Amino acid sequence: MAMDLTFLGTGSAYPSPHRGASALVLRTEGECWLFDCGEGTQTQLMKSQLKASRITKVFITHLHGDHMFGLPGLLCTVSLHCTSTAGKDHQPVEIYGPIGLRKFLRVTLGLSSSQLLFPYVVHELVPTADQSPSEGLLDPKMTSCDEGLHPQEVQGRTIHLDPAHNSYTLIENEQVVVKAFRLYHRIPSFGFVVQEGDRPGKLNVQKLKELGIKAGLVYGKLKTGHSVVLENGVTVFPSDVLEDPIPGRKICILGDCCSLVGNAGQQLCHGADVLVHEATLDDTQKDKAMEHGHSTPSMAAEFAKACQAKQLALYHFSQRYKPPALLKEGDEDDVMELKRQAAALLNGQEVILAEDFLTIVIPIKKGV
Ligand SMILES: [Zn+2]
Ligand SMILES: [Zn+2]
Repeated sequence: MAMDLTFLGTGSAYPSPHRGASALVLRTEGECWLFDCGEGTQTQLMKSQLKASRITKVFITHLHGDHMFGLPGLLCTVSLHCTSTAGKDHQPVEIYGPIGLRKFLRVTLGLSSSQLLFPYVVHELVPTADQSPSEGLLDPKMTSCDEGLHPQEVQGRTIHLDPAHNSYTLIENEQVVVKAFRLYHRIPSFGFVVQEGDRPGKLNVQKLKELGIKAGLVYGKLKTGHSVVLENGVTVFPSDVLEDPIPGRKICILGDCCSLVGNAGQQLCHGADVLVHEATLDDTQKDKAMEHGHSTPSMAAEFAKACQAKQLALYHFSQRYKPPALLKEGDEDDVMELKRQAAALLNGQEVILAEDFLTIVIPIKKGV
């Protein structure tokens, strides 16, 4: 199954003509999952090859405006392009994010009298008090939702930290598991891990021949994990004829942070195929970055190294860093320097400098 990751916005703080505000899309066959939705994400989507109508899930790392101001507008525009008949059978768009997101959407959609032609649901993650300075925590009065659901809203879940695993389980089925883990930022922030399920290994044709099994229905049964009884009464189990399972792909996307809370992040991101980490300022401005709850390239690289991530993609650059193509003679802030700083720590491991509309293809792994 094809899988790719497209950056729609790689700038921090606000959208500019050369960098959109935070947003990226993980696409698997037919479905688009949007991670963060800064202001202007809908126009970035229109400029890309992706279709906004294919967005089935949205994950918001934290409630800073550069990560979510685009969401109500995007939902309204998707609705405008949705025919009323398509809307009827529409599964709710599932939106995950920190507590307060439900209220934000209710108020913005409600006050603007916005009706959607499809349902939506907000599942809220409850942060812990150690994810930000105390002034970054929202007063429960501000996030309470007593005024009732928006007409198109379906009641969502409230997801608490699982203390045994130090993480939040958002989605869990045979195809995929999505978990969130805690980050430290000026306000509570989260990282998300998308772990694709393992696939059954290849059929060992030699063994099948030896057992006298001919290609056909029996092959399919064994491949899908069912044992079969042969005419001679012998039972063949899938494990007898299947090679090792093909490991699923792992994509990790971290929101704004200057550190992690607890060790779940490192464990969950272990061996990530792609690790997306912010690098707002370069290493020479580490104090300033940390003061604002942000990371530098070497901080991102340290984490990627600890996780043994296969690829590190940096994003969320200060708007002072123009894309390399726009760099002029004499410009002091060279974004390529950020790549060099991360690469210096990673001994040749791949570092990707994300730019708006960059797509990273994540190929299916080969059996081990
Ligand atoms: Zn940000
Ligand atoms: Zn932020």
